[in-house]
Amino acid sequence: MTHEAVDLLSRYLKIDTTNPPGNENRGVAFFADIFDREGIAYKTYEASPGRGSIRAVIPGSGEKGAVILLNHIDVVPARADDWCVDPFSGAIKDGFIYGRGALDMKGQGILELLAFLEIKRKGLRPCRDLIFLAVADEEAGGANGIKYLLDQHGEEFQADLVINEGGFGLSNVLPDRALFMIATAEKGVCRLKLMRSGPPGHGSTPHGQNALEKLVQALSRLLAKENPVIITPLIAEYFKQLAVAWEFLMPYVRDGEPATLIEILTQNGMLEIPQMAAMLKNTISLNLLHSGNKVNVIPDTAEAELDIRLLPGIDPEAVVAEIKAALADDDIKVIASRSSHASESSMDLDDFDIIKRVHREHFPGALAVASLLFGASDSRFFRAKGIPCYGVCPMLISLEDLGKVHGIDERISEENMIRGTEVFCDIVRKLCDV
Ligand SMILES: [Zn+2]
Repeated sequence: MTHEAVDLLSRYLKIDTTNPPGNENRGVAFFADIFDREGIAYKTYEASPGRGSIRAVIPGSGEKGAVILLNHIDVVPARADDWCVDPFSGAIKDGFIYGRGALDMKGQGILELLAFLEIKRKGLRPCRDLIFLAVADEEAGGANGIKYLLDQHGEEFQADLVINEGGFGLSNVLPDRALFMIATAEKGVCRLKLMRSGPPGHGSTPHGQNALEKLVQALSRLLAKENPVIITPLIAEYFKQLAVAWEFLMPYVRDGEPATLIEILTQNGMLEIPQMAAMLKNTISLNLLHSGNKVNVIPDTAEAELDIRLLPGIDPEAVVAEIKAALADDDIKVIASRSSHASESSMDLDDFDIIKRVHREHFPGALAVASLLFGASDSRFFRAKGIPCYGVCPMLISLEDLGKVHGIDERISEENMIRGTEVFCDIVRKLCDV
């Protein structure tokens, strides 16, 4: 017989909730049907037609503030031609469940659901309200999902803790032991549009004021600049914990000097690993460039867009000022289309200790450490309200499979779903003191 977690995920992955357009109401119907059968009351929300979210609660004794199990229903697009199976077939092959959203984050959505159902099925009385919350629109910024819910129905989402995506376990990074990352923070996002204009002209007679050339020259000045490594308190702690498995970090553990850590990371080639660099630096990525419409015409405008990700403690405005200085061209108009600080939750809470401990109990020898998510998630909206959020997902994946998030052949193993359910249920039971 198929395990319930595997069966549910396979069915959930068949539901196409590609955002845009989202159609998250289909996911809401999937959960509503389960809650109906289990005799659990729920409430649905619709930010705009088709953009549904759903919330169910198991009331607790009120000893502690509520815990929300948060997950998003929408997924990013998938091109079926590129995949080894139909990305919306929920196919199970060679021990893996394939489908868009298997890792991000329908797999975790099912773990959260099963942990929630377990409390209900066993008739347990948690020490706090336990809230299951599946939302729309995370992949496009949350305006039709969590942002709408918190703006319009904020009183229904009061909590002392939110468990969300952003955590994962890596099986093949440390020698002889698993590494679980529990996301306590995520980087800020700043998006800049750069616009340069100049006189048009004929391609046969360059006049030296070509808008596209001016923009490209300024961009190369900017991109030639190295972003420095910044050792934030979170990263300092992260590497101290890792020293148990990576002995080459010991000189840093002994003297605690950021310069020592930077030296070690440089010598070991760590800064060449994009994921590692993203944890240690503010990053700038030039992702869009528009100009010109004919090869023999000098264009009179050129535009570029930059995706900038900021470490905790960094002020977006200061970074924009640095970027303007590096561009060194006052005729470039710089417009921020989005700008947010990094968000962070304390590592000193009892709930955080519980989460780490349960990971270690189920995976003896494993390290469970606070980590920084490079991307953005819905956690930032709760953190802005002062509610602690942790990215927690007790699944052990390889770096190769992690690269399939938003990519081709996204998949999760059956074993991860089965074992992950056990661990996740245990985490929720301990957080609820039952
Ligand atoms: Zn996600």
